Amino acid sequence: MLEGHFLLSSGLHSDRYLQCALMLQHPDVAERLAVLLYQELGRDRDIVNRVTAVVSPAIGGIVFGQEVARVLRTMTGRDVRALFTERDDAGTMVLRRGFTLSSDDAVLVVEDVVTTGKSTREVMAVVSGAGAAVVGVGCVADRSGGMPLFEVPFHAVTAVAIRTWQPAECPLCAQGIPCVKPGSRKQLR
Ligand code: ZN
Repeated sequence: MLEGHFLLSSGLHSDRYLQCALMLQHPDVAERLAVLLYQELGRDRDIVNRVTAVVSPAIGGIVFGQEVARVLRTMTGRDVRALFTERDDAGTMVLRRGFTLSSDDAVLVVEDVVTTGKSTREVMAVVSGAGAAVVGVGCVADRSGGMPLFEVPFHAVTAVAIRTWQPAECPLCAQGIPCVKPGSRKQLR
């Protein structure tokens, strides 16, 4: 958990940022988190019984998605694939690299952190557009504050409460503290 003044991908500002990559850099921790998510998913037998693929948004979701697919594969004995979406030059979320989904696929969308669910919904649209079914969403950290975000079951390893503000209402901006986009060194102002 980093402290400072952050611009989140949602466009909101925050004084804390959960940098999941710092946890996931340890493969044993990533695996343990994936097992914990699997145990959460276990409440939803429908997901575990049907899932054929995990799809995550690049870059943040890739490592955890891979680990979740591995655990699902081990526990179900089925060939659960791990795919990821990425943005094209126009900023549109797409499947590249020859990744394909079909109407035979039941997809668990996996993220590291879910806040507004915006990027998750973009991944869901890619999956639906490919004719596959989204059976659920899973993540390491649910930062939504309990907001209902999706029309499919949503499971998280843990819920994390972090205060966020619209930029115009951000007290850190009001103090003139430089805002930083997490994961980069770039200062925004
Ligand atoms: Zn701010």
